[in-house]
Amino acid sequence: MGETSRVLPPDLRVEYPRAARAAGCYLYDDQGREYLDGCSSAIAVNVGHGNPEILDAIRAQLDTITYCYRTQFANEPAERLAAELVRLAPGDLSHVQFTNSGSEGTEAAIRLALQYWQEVGRPERRLVVSRDVSYHGATLGALAVSGHEARRRPLAALLPDLPRAPRADCHRCPFGLTRDTCALDCASAVEQTILAAGPGNVAAFIMEPVVGAAGGAVPAPPGYLTAVAEICRRHDVLLIADEVMTGLGRTGRWFGVDAESVAPDLLVLGKGMSAGYLPIGAVLVDARIHAAIHDGSGTSALGHTYSANPLAAASAAAVVDFLVRYDVPARAARAGDRLRRGLAAVLAARGVAADVRGAGLLLGVDLTPHDPDRDHGVTAAALTAAAFEERLLIYPAGTDAVPRAVIVAPPLTITDAELDQLVDRFAAALDRVVPVADRRST
Ligand code: PMP
Repeated sequence: MGETSRVLPPDLRVEYPRAARAAGCYLYDDQGREYLDGCSSAIAVNVGHGNPEILDAIRAQLDTITYCYRTQFANEPAERLAAELVRLAPGDLSHVQFTNSGSEGTEAAIRLALQYWQEVGRPERRLVVSRDVSYHGATLGALAVSGHEARRRPLAALLPDLPRAPRADCHRCPFGLTRDTCALDCASAVEQTILAAGPGNVAAFIMEPVVGAAGGAVPAPPGYLTAVAEICRRHDVLLIADEVMTGLGRTGRWFGVDAESVAPDLLVLGKGMSAGYLPIGAVLVDARIHAAIHDGSGTSALGHTYSANPLAAASAAAVVDFLVRYDVPARAARAGDRLRRGLAAVLAARGVAADVRGAGLLLGVDLTPHDPDRDHGVTAAALTAAAFEERLLIYPAGTDAVPRAVIVAPPLTITDAELDQLVDRFAAALDRVVPVADRRST
């Protein structure tokens, strides 16, 4: 790689290949090696790398205005983007506050939830309930509501102890139930957590419709989203949907909560919203919250220097246009079925016990067998590294509690031939790490 890199990487002992260019579902390093992007890099590159329609929109914006400050000017791309997000969004989400990342989106949602209760004269509602095995971002507030022990640990001293409900995970049900005996105890547990905290103290409940980085694309059992939305309504607790990973078509629907037509009070976006082009995130705000702030203090001044900047907004507006024009969510649903079948067939053919789950093109493979005596010990990190050797990018998910789950989530624009190549490379990666002796018997 030549001279020592001065960029501090995530793992200081790893020498990462240097990315040189990217097109569609592939990245190329400076040695000319090609990598199939089986996880949209960070489950972000939803419309593929180098998408000409997005690049054209960015170029056009470069020629008009790239930056203005949100306390001095409104701007057309941000207004157009906000209007389109509101049009597509569930329920009565009526306004958008822009951020530069998903973590900032979570922070903004928490802040707006607490501000809402202050505006309506209930400042004691200040707790945010979240769930075990969840990830809402790397900044302090977002980590405070994240059930991701490994990421919390170094900052534990700075993180308040907020109430957390058990996870909703059918493969490893914390209540020991099966799909047949499921009585949605995981949803009831959210209510018990709210009751234990005292509903009058709770500002909001935050959840990912499909648990991403922490759990490995774990969808809630059918009926869960509806049940927790009803619990929130009953106790007047605001519902924050963290759709940073699931939003804008990833799950085969516009939003993850659309699986059960649930209307959250705040909805956080990031990742696929800018599809890897320019950094931007958002929180969509219900009309009731907007009205309370409008009629109350009249200000939601907290934000960031680059919030709602016209260049990032223009790139995201082009992404959303693309998703609408080509009906990309429906395409993701179809491609997701094909990929899920392909991955399940590869695992079955090798006798490797695994849970293949998820929604649309947000799929997880959890290699933990139900019988702990049969655990082959293959970690998400080992499988991800083996896939990298096969020139396939997959995403190691999981916390200490879920160490064997990976996410497979290619660009929503992936072709059938590319999907088949992805499945072949996944099979080759599996063959590198799962010992033959552990097959059939697991
Ligand atoms: N929420 C969820 C559900 C996420 O998956 C992530 C990123 N993995 C975040 C929040 C944080 O987003 P960012 O990395 O853009 O800060």
